[in-house]
Amino acid sequence: MTENPITPTIPLDAEGAHHGFLRLPYSRDDSAWGAVMIPISVIASGAGPTALLTGGNHGDEYEGPIALQELAATLRPGDITGRVIVLPMMNLPAFAAGRRCSPIDGGNMNRSFPGRPDGTVTQKIAHYIASRLVPLADIVLDYHSGGRTLDFLPFAAAHVLEDKAQEAACVAAMRAFNAPYSMKMLEIDNAGMFDTEVEARGKTFVTTELGGAGTATAASVAIARRGARNLLIHAGILGGEPETAPSVMLDMPDARCFVTAERPGLLEPLVDLGAEVRAGQPVGRLWPADRSGIAPLPCHAALDGILAARHVPGLAQMGDCLAVVAQVSG
Ligand code: CA
Repeated sequence: MTENPITPTIPLDAEGAHHGFLRLPYSRDDSAWGAVMIPISVIASGAGPTALLTGGNHGDEYEGPIALQELAATLRPGDITGRVIVLPMMNLPAFAAGRRCSPIDGGNMNRSFPGRPDGTVTQKIAHYIASRLVPLADIVLDYHSGGRTLDFLPFAAAHVLEDKAQEAACVAAMRAFNAPYSMKMLEIDNAGMFDTEVEARGKTFVTTELGGAGTATAASVAIARRGARNLLIHAGILGGEPETAPSVMLDMPDARCFVTAERPGLLEPLVDLGAEVRAGQPVGRLWPADRSGIAPLPCHAALDGILAARHVPGLAQMGDCLAVVAQVSG
């Protein structure tokens, strides 16, 4: 079996605060013996649990990187019992390009797990995180947002799992994160996801969708920042009281949640994020983008709920996710 070529430039098991890189050799035209340098911070103090906090799994989602940059720069060993491993930009090449996927190999990090030690750059990063960092962790938080092509209501999410004790731990951690919305999430395509890999290793896992449209807002960053702190308190790593507010429970029961474009076009939204919708109600309509005088195609919700996500930008391609309708469960 090939060894993963990534080496950390800092110790992962030493007391104190260490800031460095995961160094991945990447020989290429403009850098013969070059490397991809993925930022990592490890803050450790005493015997306690380990939290792995990750952002930039997709390179065009910003709440995670911002909140984790702040956490890495401000968290002191004296504040904690245990260890916090912070990777603000997991897929650094994608993050540096402002893209969902890596410009090096086209790799979508969240479809690349468990990765390969002898694979592409994205597969090697995924393999190192899965095989070397996840085993160190008791709890894992992976930040997502909608990126350049979706915008979400701010929610933390947990998955339905076969192991009900593990599911309960994930739901408790999701509630502790305390985003304005909390989602029991359906994945339409869970093979290769970081979520699936972490859950398969028996860890407590929380993910988020905190906004999107290729940027962050002051409000969405505040939710991300507060959630990390709440989660570290929940895990017993950070002292103090969690900052909590009401959270609306949402459910994505099946594929009827997704409204998919059945032709390309100019998207006219008919409802906005958070609005109540009924089954059969059009949530948007697609006007032709190439001619006038033609009626639009209405795009209907298939169940009752609220609009939890919407398409960005204004032009849609055939097959794009136009909207997600989630059921309010409590
Ligand atoms: Ca994402």
